[in-house]
Amino acid sequence: MAVVGIIGQERELFVRFYENGVLFNPFDILDVNIYDAETGGTLIAGPLTPQLVNVGQYKVIWDIPDTVVAGRYYHEWTWQAVASIGTKTQRYIVDVVPPSITTSPKRDTNCNLAVGWWGRDLQCRIEGEQIPCKIKTLLGDKLLSRGKDVYLWQQVTESTAGVEICSCVKDTTQRADITCSSCYGVKLIPGYIKFGHETIFSSSTSSSLTLTNTELNMDIKPYRILLSPTQLTGTIESGAIPYSNAISANWGYRLDAANILDTNSINVEFSTNNIDFYPISELNDSGKIPIGTGNIYLRITMARANAEDRSPEFEIIRLRHANTEQPFIKILRPQVSEFPSIMQYGRRSEFIGERFWTMPLDFFDENIQADTPAARIVENSFYERVTGINVGNRFVTTKLNYNEEFGTFTEQSFEVRRVQPEEVYARLVF
Ligand SMILES: [Zn+2]
Repeated sequence: MAVVGIIGQERELFVRFYENGVLFNPFDILDVNIYDAETGGTLIAGPLTPQLVNVGQYKVIWDIPDTVVAGRYYHEWTWQAVASIGTKTQRYIVDVVPPSITTSPKRDTNCNLAVGWWGRDLQCRIEGEQIPCKIKTLLGDKLLSRGKDVYLWQQVTESTAGVEICSCVKDTTQRADITCSSCYGVKLIPGYIKFGHETIFSSSTSSSLTLTNTELNMDIKPYRILLSPTQLTGTIESGAIPYSNAISANWGYRLDAANILDTNSINVEFSTNNIDFYPISELNDSGKIPIGTGNIYLRITMARANAEDRSPEFEIIRLRHANTEQPFIKILRPQVSEFPSIMQYGRRSEFIGERFWTMPLDFFDENIQADTPAARIVENSFYERVTGINVGNRFVTTKLNYNEEFGTFTEQSFEVRRVQPEEVYARLVF
């Protein structure tokens, strides 16, 4: 969920700059401007003056005029890490809404002291002393200095942008005929998304496909695309898939298809203009890599040696890139929880689960609005360590707990268990 601004009011827009996972002040911030994201980059306001909030944390104030129409905008920061290196650009979404549809007004937390005697009003005192802010700052500092970096995957929901209902959903039973690579059992494609990344996909049931000598087979769920009877070769074209790769990050991809016979073949090519197609293995080659904003077109060519052979089967292809330089979150174990008990042979300690905590997700991504459901990690999310001795190992989150003690979402904690080799998280999720 994006940051929300209100027409006619000021909105603070924050960014953070990291170097090797640590907040730092860049050499220079050259420009901060507001653009219209819907028209594709009309300058709306700027240059705005950046203000240093804390080490590595800056803000600008956008005084949203009455003349701005409701819609999607972005703030773009052009900056330079050190003097001898080129500039970088980062963009963050702001949704501007009219004043009428915003939620009920909150007390102004910027005002330190209320007029009159307020010491007995506990809520006033907590707000006056800025306790939630202090707690959040303290926890944030702790996490930045000692937290472990983890990639986070979360299940998509019906409100996630761009999801499609999976063809494995049945009227009769809740199970797919075969393990579903399209939705990983979530019933919505693409099943899981990786935090801090953009995931795009083209599946066998996507609406804009062009099929040549190929057809959708609906005998088995999830549906797959096969060569038409008697055809030796055929193609699947995805049509335009929009993407936004503002930081020019490298892409990863994953094809889920069944080749059946080793004399069959499935080749994937990509294009950014629907004219020049290159092998998907050249996705990150200089001059070919999709950067900035635009469309990706995918072309899948399937072939078999003999018309009587079983056809290759195409199910889904996913592409992904990071949206920020630090596309992960940080987690920390509070302390080892032990439960002492006195046994016949003496004292013994038992572990009470592995419990970790982290900040609300808006701490790691300015595009997520604080104190909303989007800032939560949910049940059955899983994560993978970025570095360290457990690198690559995946863990599933359970028993989520959200701390909203002072009316502000300050932290969340969860127990974890190691992903078992046969689980969908280990075998399938990209
Ligand atoms: Zn499915």
